[in-house]
Amino acid sequence: MSTLKMPASLPDPIINENAKIVLKRRYQRKDADGIVYESVKELFWRVASAIAEEEAKYDGSSYKPAKLAREFYDLMTTYRFLPNSPTLMNAGTDIGQLAACFVLPVADDIEGIFDAVKHAAMIHKSGGGTGFSFSRLRAKDSVVGSTGGVASGPLSFLKIFNCATEQIKQGGTRRGANMGILRVDHPDVMDFIKAKERDGELNNFNLSIGLTEQFMRAVEKKEDYDLVAPNSGEVVGQLNAREVFNILVNKAWESGDPGIVFLDRINRDNPTPKLGEIESTNPCGEQPLLPYEACNLGSINLGKCYLKGKNGHDSEIDWEELKRIVHLSVRFLDNVIDASVYPLDQITEMVGKNRKIGLGVMGWADLLYQLKISYNSQTAVDLAERVMKFVRDESRSASKLLAKERGEFPAYPESVFGEANLGPYRNATTTTIAPTGTLSIIAGCSSGVEPLFALSFVRNVMDNDKLVETNPFFEAAVKDADAYSAKLMEEIAKVGTIKKMDHLPEELRRVFVTAMDIEPIWHLKMQAAFQKFTDNAVSKTVNLPNSATKEEIWDIYWKAYEFGCKGVTVYRDGSKISQVLCTGDDK
Ligand code: UDP
Repeated sequence: MSTLKMPASLPDPIINENAKIVLKRRYQRKDADGIVYESVKELFWRVASAIAEEEAKYDGSSYKPAKLAREFYDLMTTYRFLPNSPTLMNAGTDIGQLAACFVLPVADDIEGIFDAVKHAAMIHKSGGGTGFSFSRLRAKDSVVGSTGGVASGPLSFLKIFNCATEQIKQGGTRRGANMGILRVDHPDVMDFIKAKERDGELNNFNLSIGLTEQFMRAVEKKEDYDLVAPNSGEVVGQLNAREVFNILVNKAWESGDPGIVFLDRINRDNPTPKLGEIESTNPCGEQPLLPYEACNLGSINLGKCYLKGKNGHDSEIDWEELKRIVHLSVRFLDNVIDASVYPLDQITEMVGKNRKIGLGVMGWADLLYQLKISYNSQTAVDLAERVMKFVRDESRSASKLLAKERGEFPAYPESVFGEANLGPYRNATTTTIAPTGTLSIIAGCSSGVEPLFALSFVRNVMDNDKLVETNPFFEAAVKDADAYSAKLMEEIAKVGTIKKMDHLPEELRRVFVTAMDIEPIWHLKMQAAFQKFTDNAVSKTVNLPNSATKEEIWDIYWKAYEFGCKGVTVYRDGSKISQVLCTGDDK
């Protein structure tokens, strides 16, 4: 607990109805009987004061902890910025583990495998998600030297990780999330691709195939490529690259699983290649990390950076305000690294070397709605680049400032920045775009850089709770256009979109587009625009209508590669039994 006293003048936060449910269920402190004893105000003060207190250990700091705590409190309670869930849950408590993203190595021996299972369990308990590369495990049926028997292969071990995760519900409410990655040249790749064929299997895992540029070139030329035994480096077989790619596309069409990540592209952005190669990402794919690395994330609500046009001027982005938020947020996230207690010494050591943070954005669709720009337009894509370039540049200049106050990240001299004399920086990376699944509920904004799923919809969260939401910017615009009626709102809630409502003003239908109204290519262009200026990666789903063809998915996968995305996730409406988000008609 922080020693900073809560000021008497601290304002009560305004909390939306959905946030009340989520905060009470998962974030506010409870006693041994499960009774909530912490108010939302106390929660935000707990976090703000614990993170601000870290400031005291830096002599060169330009802030006093008490003043900074107040600024952090205001930043969070006006929903301009929120740190990732583990920070909100655990800052200033005995658990003290504050990062959402981890990657653990899985070595090719029994001890190494079960170490990883144990370490993952410890991380899940504290609210973090884990990613693993299974590519180092020897293939199924290869010889086990110590016993003379045969190996059971990555897939059989994956099931053990999945089962262990099932048993450890995070904090009683949040189930651990995992990413499993296998390189496309691993001999068991076909089994891995089919691993989630039956719905419900490996339900605690997202799976992705790690594609190489060599493989992509073979796809282009319809050539065979080599399968390589990870333990011996021997070529043990060949597959036709085009056929494997087609199967990946078919799987994506059927269920969205597995996803794909582009390993060479990811490693081109590895800021510290001398410390190792990046083989995996965190569960949702936005955070590629080295083995034993962790990263804490935070998201700026862009919907709050809207400046209404006055005296005949157009509305625009409040760049000054955005800059202020970025600088405070970087300081916040850097302090989180120090405040966090990691469950393993190896992780403490790796995090200490690189000090990666992942500042991103949410409320992008809300901002576009306010600016009256349609998501599926070149104007929106251009603005995405401009906004993210600004966030990246400002976050780097904030990181430089911190380096002056507190020193650069220890691996800086051997990093790509050090070698090119670009720094010094305090953090090896500063930007990541997270899904903001729960943060966006707390802030009452659109999630990440996604378009709205529906203008009015029922949100399924945390097992079976249902929350009804209508976008406030849409409601205001309908009222402005004199088109508001209770009956109309009911109709919209049923279908989610106003695309086919010809009786509504054209301008409304142009601006208030939803995920399913947007052609898949615009989803991808938006992802690529944000990726261009993001150090880590971008969480984004390319939504497709149920009628989408396999050829369309082929095209999306290929373009994702061409556009320089680090991975791609597609979702064809109706292709999975349970959807995270659904319009009113679905259930
Ligand atoms: N995450 C997790 N379990 C969950 C949700 C998220 O482990 O149930 C981790 C995972 O690494 C994910 C990251 O948190 O990639 C960020 O997810 P999101 O932005 O949705 O989290 P939030 O901070 O909004 O809860």
